[in-house]
Amino acid sequence: MPHKDPNCIFCKIVDRSISSTTVFEDDEIYVFPDIHPQAPVHLLIIPKDHVLRSVAEMSEADTAFVGRMVYRAKLLAEERGIDTDGYRLVFNVRHHGGQEVDHIHLHLLGGQKLGPLG
Ligand code: 5GP
Ligand code: ZN
Repeated sequence: MPHKDPNCIFCKIVDRSISSTTVFEDDEIYVFPDIHPQAPVHLLIIPKDHVLRSVAEMSEADTAFVGRMVYRAKLLAEERGIDTDGYRLVFNVRHHGGQEVDHIHLHLLGGQKLGPLG
């Protein structure tokens, strides 16, 4: 898979051709607020490169990287002060999972009591 997909919204956010607010970035991870927040805190944690469309494409070699996405979400939840009350981490996968953007991403949702999963 190419490292950037010229048609991918999230690749465009990483290269700043679509504007967003940078919440966090390092060499491999970029974090920004969801444009349609479903909770007071709704962040998207993504790899900077277009490496995987979704969890469904993961191989064992990707486990450490996906673990770092989860760990980054945990740190951001602490930073936003929502860790004690709790939060939700979501990977939507493909059509039935409600995935709309085919660039792997982790949703961090919190800041209020969330409803049951639909
Ligand atoms: P999915 O449904 O694929 O798991 O989640 C994609 C998320 O990306 C959606 O929650 C949607 O609101 C968000 N999103 C789509 N386009 C943009 C955009 O241009 N900017 C930002 N910040 N979020 C976006
Ligand atoms: Zn992409």
